[in-house]
This record gives sequence, structure tokens and C-alpha cells, in this order.
Amino acid sequence: MVPPLRIEFKQGNLFLPEINLWLDPHEPRLGPENVFVSHAHSDHTAAHREVILSAPTAKLMQARLPGERLERVLNFNQASQLEYNGQSFSLTPLPAGHIFGRAAPLYRRFQTASRPFR
Ligand SMILES: [Zn+2]
Repeated sequence: MVPPLRIEFKQGNLFLPEINLWLDPHEPRLGPENVFVSHAHSDHTAAHREVILSAPTAKLMQARLPGERLERVLNFNQASQLEYNGQSFSLTPLPAGHIFGRAAPLYRRFQTASRPFR
């Protein structure tokens, strides 16, 4: 069985260390870490270097927080593969209500034959 991903409360935010990913961090993240933005309310956004988000959230964020940033726009209900530290993960944004574009991230760890989980 593949173990679930660990979630930590770090610097006032949720952080998944195994995939170097922050969930809606309040302070701008300017390093190589991954940042998932669930929705465009101001308490869930900041001027990050790179963000992972839904298309509606990307549009709202561009209107509410203009500026240059890399965007990884994901489709709802569609798994995207991420690589980190030699391991593969999938991220599927699920519709979550509350505001247009809000997504709840579903993360899964892959266990592959070529790269067994250690
Ligand atoms: Zn909100």
C-alpha cells in the first residue's frame, strides 16, 4: 500500500514536504517550491513566483493581483502528473464551491515499477 502524503502546518500555512508544495500560502513564495492556489480571495493569494490553479482562478487572480508569474493552469477533474525528488504524483483539481473557480486539490502518490516507493 502506498502511504498518504504528509501535511504539515508551517509558517502559518499548510505544506506538503514530500512534494514541496504550499497550499494557499499567505506570504509570497519566490523560490522553486510549488504553490497551489485554491481560489482568488485575497486571503488565499499572494504575489508568488509560480502558481498551480484552475483557469477561472487564474483569470480572477490576474484581475485582482496583476503582475508577472508563471501559471500552471489545470482542468477540473483532470489529473496532472508532477515530479519531485524522483517521485511521481498526480494532482486533480476538484470543483469545491464557495467562489467561481475554487478547487480542492486531490493529490496521489504513484508507485511505479521503475521507481519503487522507498
Ligand atoms: Zn474564500
